[in-house]
Amino acid sequence: MTLSLSSPISAFPLKRLFFPTSLKPSIPTPVFLSLSLAKHCLNMSSVPVSLPKYDFQTNWDVPQFSDDQMDAVADETLKRYSLSRDRKRNESGVAIVWFRNDLRVLDNEALFQAWKSSQAILPVYCLDPRLFGTTHYFGFPKTGAVLRAQFLIDCLANLKKNLMKRGLNLLIQHGKPEDILPSIAKAFGAHTVYAHQETCSEEILVEKLLTNSLRRVVLPPVDIATSIPKTPKLQLIWGSTMYHLDDLPFGSSNVPDVYTQFRKSVESKCKIRGCIKIPPSLGPLPSGSLDEIGGWGCVPSLDQLGLNMEKHNGGMHFIGGENAALARVNEYFWNKDLLRVYKETRNAMLGPDYSTKFSPWLAFGCLSPRYAYEEVKRYEKERVANDSTYWVLFELIWRDYFRFLSIKYANSIFHLGGPRRVKGLNWNQDMALFESWRDGRTGYPLIDANMKELNSTGFMSNRGRQIVCSFLVRDMGLDWRMGAEWFETCLVDYDPCSNYGNWTYGAGVGNDPREDRYFSIPKQAQTYDPEGEYVSYWLPELRVLPKEKRHFPGTSYIKQVVPLKFGNANPRNSNQFKGQSHRGGFERRKGQRS
Ligand SMILES: Cc1cc2nc3c(=O)[nH]c(=O)nc-3n(C[C@H](O)[C@H](O)[C@H](O)COP(=O)(O)OP(=O)(O)OC[C@H]3O[C@@H](n4cnc5c(N)ncnc54)[C@H](O)[C@@H]3O)c2cc1C
Repeated sequence: MTLSLSSPISAFPLKRLFFPTSLKPSIPTPVFLSLSLAKHCLNMSSVPVSLPKYDFQTNWDVPQFSDDQMDAVADETLKRYSLSRDRKRNESGVAIVWFRNDLRVLDNEALFQAWKSSQAILPVYCLDPRLFGTTHYFGFPKTGAVLRAQFLIDCLANLKKNLMKRGLNLLIQHGKPEDILPSIAKAFGAHTVYAHQETCSEEILVEKLLTNSLRRVVLPPVDIATSIPKTPKLQLIWGSTMYHLDDLPFGSSNVPDVYTQFRKSVESKCKIRGCIKIPPSLGPLPSGSLDEIGGWGCVPSLDQLGLNMEKHNGGMHFIGGENAALARVNEYFWNKDLLRVYKETRNAMLGPDYSTKFSPWLAFGCLSPRYAYEEVKRYEKERVANDSTYWVLFELIWRDYFRFLSIKYANSIFHLGGPRRVKGLNWNQDMALFESWRDGRTGYPLIDANMKELNSTGFMSNRGRQIVCSFLVRDMGLDWRMGAEWFETCLVDYDPCSNYGNWTYGAGVGNDPREDRYFSIPKQAQTYDPEGEYVSYWLPELRVLPKEKRHFPGTSYIKQVVPLKFGNANPRNSNQFKGQSHRGGFERRKGQRS
């Protein structure tokens, strides 16, 4: 194993340095990896590893590219995925593209089908007030993370720009799709509304309501002779996963309950479809005035959405939109060359580069998972194919798995007993305990730092999510839905299938048979943040303590709100819960995912 512990600051990557794919650096950018993780690495022989020393003032734009650099990456990528100019569309009339969680041009089949089936297309986005409502059981604000709303605003601005580059525009209206789209369809005589299909009940309900309201729209007959009036129809298209729903080797009601069975089955029996290429010009827009429906509308500001941006308190800031998504793929795979070590770094918690950070763009559909797949394959051909390159796909299959399970188990993923309808577990809804978890005041630095990160940035690492989930469920004994709904409120990458899928899994009510998913805080701290670098980034009061005490600060930190179920958080010197811990030892982590 080569551990090059060169000055991490001088080697620190490339803020706003940029390599288009055609100018890939021949020497890989050094990879920054915590020493503890490096020690756990199995497969690092050729990788230079530097120990990061993040300045406490450091914060990061993700990606770390300027606007011009992001545009250049997007232009280059979209050019690679362009159809030849002579590709003809074969139908007539007007089609509407209803953008939902698919805010991209590349590999957007709804957009492509609309283009193919019409002479003119009208792209529409509805700012649905239900997006800004409250969560189901506990009434937390849905877009409580102002950061998620800002991300959406970035996405819409970028989508509008990319559509305009291709001869279109984006009509933005405030209101419910089932109210807005029928009147637009009527005004333009649109024969079809194309959209991507969703899988959870709130979104499916909107699809049903829209189908019904479109049925009430009567369009003038296309053929005067037959004089049969027409109604516009809603055409739903699958496009949110790497594996296509129609290609699965089992029906959606027979999706295997165990991830490994699901993965092995799709890997051996399905092929991932290629990305849909797009014509260089998608115009024209339909003729006629938009006056009747109030014009093109504007990309809203936070103010117009009734939200205020609080001060950004460090950590990562994600830039929304397709250009940023494509730039992040470029940055992580090609520019910083981090894909080759992903499997070794992915369990870290601090900074932008230990994992791909694709999730916010995947959640808003700015990034197609099939594009991520094709880039992994290109990287494997041009640079290296190893466990790490495969592992990104392995994780993306988890995403597919939870999405397909949401079809199989429908609303039960949101219910207390989860997909397995587990009964008799003793959950409590103690608000004071919940608030200490929510606000990062539990007295356990690892929990508090993760919750502070979530509240400040709208993001938390996968490792952090598993730990705070385990703590809420197992140590606090709280109703897991409180945690899931708080994540729903805060996460920039919130996705109902992945969020509730992971929460039910962590709470032991998911369909996976391995139920005992306890994450021991002392063990996790020792393994993933041995120098207390992560906790002291988010909890400044710990910075004065020696490194080995940052996770176990005893009386130098706030009082612990509950004892740990399996062992004390401060094995050396905390007597706070002497005699209270449920059992000794912190090693009980049966069935934990790697
Ligand atoms: C309690 C809990 C709640 C979660 N809620 C969400 C959520 O609302 N939205 C969300 O996108 N992810 C969620 N995850 C999954 C995972 O934590 C994030 O996808 C990941 O941390 C995002 O960072 P990344 O893009 O750098 O991931 P990487 O490690 O780089 O992984 C690449 C991609 O694989 C997918 N992926 C990785 N791990 C998982 C996983 N466990 N489940 C599903 N997909 C995965 C994501 O799309 C991710 O972007 C949750 C996990 C837990 C434990």
